[in-house]
Amino acid sequence: MIRLTIYIILAIMLALGAAWMTTNPGQILITWQGWEVRFSMAVMVLLVLFYTVMLWFTVWLFKKLNISTYFTDPKRLAAKRKKGENDLDLAWSAFALEEYKEAIKFGLRAKSKLGENGSVLRLLASATSKIGDGKNPYLDTLKASSASMVWVDKQQLDHYLYQRSWGDAAPLVQKMLDSHPNNKELLKLDFLLLARLGNWQEAKLALLNARREKGAMTPSMYKHYSAVIDYCLAQEKKAAGSKMESLNLLKSSLKSDPMFAPAALSAARLYIEQDDRKSAEKILTAIWKQAPNAELSETIAELYPQESSGETFRRIKKITENASDFSESHHLLASVAIDSEQWPDARRALESIINSNMASKTTYQTLALLERKQKSDKKASDKFIEKSENAKADNHWQCNDCHKIFPHYLPTCTHCHEFDSIEWSR
Ligand SMILES: [Zn+2]
Repeated sequence: MIRLTIYIILAIMLALGAAWMTTNPGQILITWQGWEVRFSMAVMVLLVLFYTVMLWFTVWLFKKLNISTYFTDPKRLAAKRKKGENDLDLAWSAFALEEYKEAIKFGLRAKSKLGENGSVLRLLASATSKIGDGKNPYLDTLKASSASMVWVDKQQLDHYLYQRSWGDAAPLVQKMLDSHPNNKELLKLDFLLLARLGNWQEAKLALLNARREKGAMTPSMYKHYSAVIDYCLAQEKKAAGSKMESLNLLKSSLKSDPMFAPAALSAARLYIEQDDRKSAEKILTAIWKQAPNAELSETIAELYPQESSGETFRRIKKITENASDFSESHHLLASVAIDSEQWPDARRALESIINSNMASKTTYQTLALLERKQKSDKKASDKFIEKSENAKADNHWQCNDCHKIFPHYLPTCTHCHEFDSIEWSR
């Protein structure tokens, strides 16, 4: 009954519409690129009716022939998925070979079959950032999903680390630590970045934090880093005029790493400034046995300005006897032996360096000095000077990251800005 009523109303409306059309005739005009199409309103209505019927017929046909099942057929979907996964595998293979454009090509094919899923987007984002033209819409899409957020942050972090933008990387690591507070790599990186930025106090806290998480760094690594940070804090205290605090920090540095020569040298200098030369000597003697270097050598030689050259020779002979494996010991002994005219000791010391294949420029230069001072033999001296020119370089402070050579130790390389990379190179 309701349906009949609807049909009757529909028929009345159609009849009224047709009547209205005959009393209100009109024209439709379409102009396009110099073309002009003109037809009456009645034709327009017929076209709309025809379009509606065709649409209705198509939907009916789809239903009748069950065409939609073609698109939802599980077998067909599984085959499509397999093809998509294959494309993704090919994309990762191209990525591994650093063929990033090829990787994007296969990645987009995979995307058309698998849709915008995380795996596809990660491939596309990785390859796009390798091409590096700045824009990466895939990263933005991934960022919107909380599950992919850390992955996106890690990509950004790797980029900052590659660019050596420590200032950008440090806050990102701290943000990542909020959601992954026990991550060993992040804890270690947090410390290293703060240290590279020279924020010693914050770096010390980060180091303590990293220590709490077992495996973030080895105990010896932790001890060495503690020594370097305390050394850096000691330099700050010294610059601010707090010598006692500085000395305490240097002692703590040496307690953490007794082989850390820069802390020993700084502590010895502080004692010398206070005219406590005995304490300075104790520290210098202890470090000389383990990690001698040129600056320590100079400080040891000039420790007691009032003593005679013979006294200096005897004092240094004692110190160097306990560190005979190092060429620095023999060079230092030879130099003070020449000053005090202990010729056989000087020669023995230099020959022992040559015999152990550690001879460097200084070895031959000192031999040349010995020839001049002992025998006034200019010819023999010139021969050794010539030999020194081709000899290997003396041991020196060098950055193991960028290989720049420095006259003194520095906790951070001023050239590549790496932390704890400058070492006494033998
Ligand atoms: Zn460097």
